[in-house]
Amino acid sequence: MTTLTDVAAMHEWADAQHQRGATIALVPTMGALHSGHLALVEEAKRQADAVVTSIFVNPTQFAPDEDYDAYPRTLDTDREILAERDVDAVFAPTVEAMYPFGASTTEEPYISMDVHTLNDHLCGAHRPGHFEGVVTVVTKLLNACKPDVAVFGQKDAQQLVILKHLAQSLLFDVEIVGVPTVREDDGLACSSRNAYLSDEERAEAPQVYAAIQAGEQAIASGEQHAEAVVRAMQKPLGQAEHARVQYASVVDASSLQPITHLHPGDDVLIAVAVFFGDTRLIDNAFVHVPSSD
Ligand code: AMP
Repeated sequence: MTTLTDVAAMHEWADAQHQRGATIALVPTMGALHSGHLALVEEAKRQADAVVTSIFVNPTQFAPDEDYDAYPRTLDTDREILAERDVDAVFAPTVEAMYPFGASTTEEPYISMDVHTLNDHLCGAHRPGHFEGVVTVVTKLLNACKPDVAVFGQKDAQQLVILKHLAQSLLFDVEIVGVPTVREDDGLACSSRNAYLSDEERAEAPQVYAAIQAGEQAIASGEQHAEAVVRAMQKPLGQAEHARVQYASVVDASSLQPITHLHPGDDVLIAVAVFFGDTRLIDNAFVHVPSSD
């Protein structure tokens, strides 16, 4: 497994793969790898001949009050894990390599990307600048790694939807593939941030998934009012003493706009964000509304 840290070397590696007739799958990550990331790597191996995993904690997707500095950085361990999984290359660039003009909004004002209404709800409404940072860094990673396929987790559902729109609307020659959320045995979605939870918080955290299951159940049993689905999602969270709900929502699975009434055949996204202390956990599910008969 080769480790590449600058963009020119990354281009050279990608060109060499394509010249030998191999396709490339990219798995973008911020490192601190867990089983969720590894499911993406396995999907990448099924999708293409060569796999590159990027490890880059992207400064522009963190708000000033978020955990950019504290975010776990475990490059050596991550590299060992990826080598064991037969990943072909790791792209671990510096901030300077990714942001040659600087990474603050005042430093790199020349080109910026806007996600418009896709940003108005769910995490976008609570994390100003986050998805602009995500589409910017993913564009850079696609240009650096030249993949045929890029693999992302449904765990970050709003991100996945936005990136599919990004590739389609800007005509990127890449297929965006989503992978179902990987969970701990008790249902909690695997996340690098789970490590921040205290024992008490960790014990209550599976209620986040219970909220999603309650929403799915409500829709499956024919509930058509989004408000009632949201109430069903909030119920399990009410049983978690340390949980502070940031949002519980039902939105259209493509436009990400809130809906009030679910119609048979609709595809919706149900999603929650919940704080335990300073730790923010998200979970969600894409749900197809069943026909009434
Ligand atoms: P991150 O390192 O948190 O930026 O995540 C990198 C990629 O892994 C993103 O596409 C995430 O959606 C995906 N991912 C994170 N956690 C999970 C999980 N529990 N199951 C599936 N994919 C995940």
